[in-house]
Amino acid sequence: MNLVFLGPPGAGKGTQARRLSEELGYIHLSTGDILRNAVKRGTPLGKKAKEYMDRGELVPDNLIVALIEEVMPEEGGVIFDGFPRTVPQAEALDRMLERRGKKVDLALLFDLPDDTVVERLSGRRTCPECGAVYHVKFNPPQKNEVCDRCGSKLIQREDDREDVVRERLRVYRDQTSPLVDYYRGKGILITLDASKPIAEVYSQVKRVIDAKRD
Ligand code: ADP
Ligand code: AMP
Repeated sequence: MNLVFLGPPGAGKGTQARRLSEELGYIHLSTGDILRNAVKRGTPLGKKAKEYMDRGELVPDNLIVALIEEVMPEEGGVIFDGFPRTVPQAEALDRMLERRGKKVDLALLFDLPDDTVVERLSGRRTCPECGAVYHVKFNPPQKNEVCDRCGSKLIQREDDREDVVRERLRVYRDQTSPLVDYYRGKGILITLDASKPIAEVYSQVKRVIDAKRD
């Protein structure tokens, strides 16, 4: 199955996608992770994307669609995390999958109030080396500010600062939330209560996937 994880920044999409890919073998494609990696390595894509990301704006559709074309696997179920973020991106994804005889099977909307988004993002800490994600209160590492997996020092993402978070929420509302109707119109939208603890959200996701499989 191919799944789209939709929802505001900080809703827990990456957290759930990582666990699903580890436990159920899904291929996890996070455009945010790929872009951050490109910025870090100083690739041409990274150089073009950086200014948009720093401001909390979306990277232009043509760059994102070209990026997905490049990394889209031929085989295996994919979780698209943070992509698509605009209607043109969603249309491009449908075309790309159709060419491979596939489709988006489910779009899961991680629903969360704005004030919780700010709390989630302001406490988020990420590992710059392996990409693991923690939260100072809700999912702390065993050793303060150190990654459990690889021992690197954790950082706070530049775009998790409050002024950029407000902009990212505005961008979500304006440009990404129309995708809710896009997928609802196709009859594949399922809304999750993403304000629940991590393990409970995981159970919700698993239930939805299992129900679709049967
Ligand atoms: P997204 O990928 O949607 O931007 P993340 O998965 O990075 O969101 O989660 C944002 C922050 O919230 C992280 O610090 C993460 O540890 C924390 N988090 C994720 N899911 C939950 C949850 N259900 N309850 C509390 N905190 C959570
Ligand atoms: P994320 O890690 O999903 O929160 O994404 C971080 C930033 O990367 C966003 O604020 C955007 O600037 C950029 N980005 C990630 N995915 C996309 C996308 N599908 N379309 C446009 N920009 C994106």
